[in-house]
Amino acid sequence: MPYLEQIDAARQYSNFGPLSRTLETRLAARLHVAAERVVTVANGTLGLTAALMAAGVPAGALVLMPAWTFVATAHAVRMAGLVPYLVDIEPDSGIMTPEIAEAALASAPAPVGAVIPVLPFGRPVELGVWDSFSAAYRVPVVIDGAAAFDAVRPAKAPVMVSLHATKILGAGEGGFVVCPDPGFAEDLRRHLNFGFYHVRSATVPALNGKFSEYHAAVGLAALDRWTETRRAFQRVARSWRRTLATTLPDAALPDSYGENWVSSTTIIRFSGAEADALGAYLACHGIDSRPWWSKGVHRHPAFAACSRTPLPTTEELAERTLGLPCFVDLSDTTISHIGKVLGDCPHRG
Ligand SMILES: *Cc1c(COP(=O)(O)O)cnc(C)c1O
Repeated sequence: MPYLEQIDAARQYSNFGPLSRTLETRLAARLHVAAERVVTVANGTLGLTAALMAAGVPAGALVLMPAWTFVATAHAVRMAGLVPYLVDIEPDSGIMTPEIAEAALASAPAPVGAVIPVLPFGRPVELGVWDSFSAAYRVPVVIDGAAAFDAVRPAKAPVMVSLHATKILGAGEGGFVVCPDPGFAEDLRRHLNFGFYHVRSATVPALNGKFSEYHAAVGLAALDRWTETRRAFQRVARSWRRTLATTLPDAALPDSYGENWVSSTTIIRFSGAEADALGAYLACHGIDSRPWWSKGVHRHPAFAACSRTPLPTTEELAERTLGLPCFVDLSDTTISHIGKVLGDCPHRG
């Protein structure tokens, strides 16, 4: 409420207003970067789109990205006037590594204008390797760290983090980009604001992707409560780990999930291709789950025709991965109950 009152007092409702600027400053402090490097955006998808625009990728170029991501990554590429080129991932971590990207660069059917590594499920990923990749191949890198509010660290490449309601720090809709330097950030604001910045003249192709002051108010209130939110999600993660260790010992949660990092999703990996059977069994017991990312971008009709490298690891992981219920007030008792249902599933093996 105090934040909402500040909006009416200042009578500025959007256009990089004071609450958005305060949120940017506080996010920058968390990440130990200059406040000028953080830019709030209307949502993560537009943040990626504008970052690709600001990176100066030639129109129509291919953008290397993993098929193992949310479909928003590919939509952002298209909105920026570029063409998704889908590649595979590394089996253990589920990430597209620089080695995979390097091989795909060599086999790409047309020039590659940018690369988008994704931080799956919000897990921490070493980003320094992408700085050397970008320098070696002279190709811009934009990081999709949408779900990684807790784990993400700044890099030389722009990093997008989503503040959607389903992510761990929610503002309803929103996001931010941690920019390589203040110059990139200024350019990004131009691409988010009709091509205007300081001048009322459209200097570049652009979007309207600005963060509203209302969402900034919610974002600031969410950030005030972050310690409690993080603790609550950590309890859920630890409870899942304890429960699954007894009911489904051959299934795995991501490395150190709930210990070094938290996320708003609980993603489990089975030892075999059983995600569909277990998801259906949970549904019979009134428990919702998700085949993660609908099994990959290439499985969505809008992207089925995209060029891609062979995707054997993506295909295999898709059949072994399931998103389980995960929310702050999910009780230990409910988690134990779901764990027991999973352990009892007769379709196993
Ligand atoms: C959530 C998500 C997005 C989209 O972010 P929005 O803020 O909802 O637009 C993009 N990429 C990944 C990997 C995501 O998880």
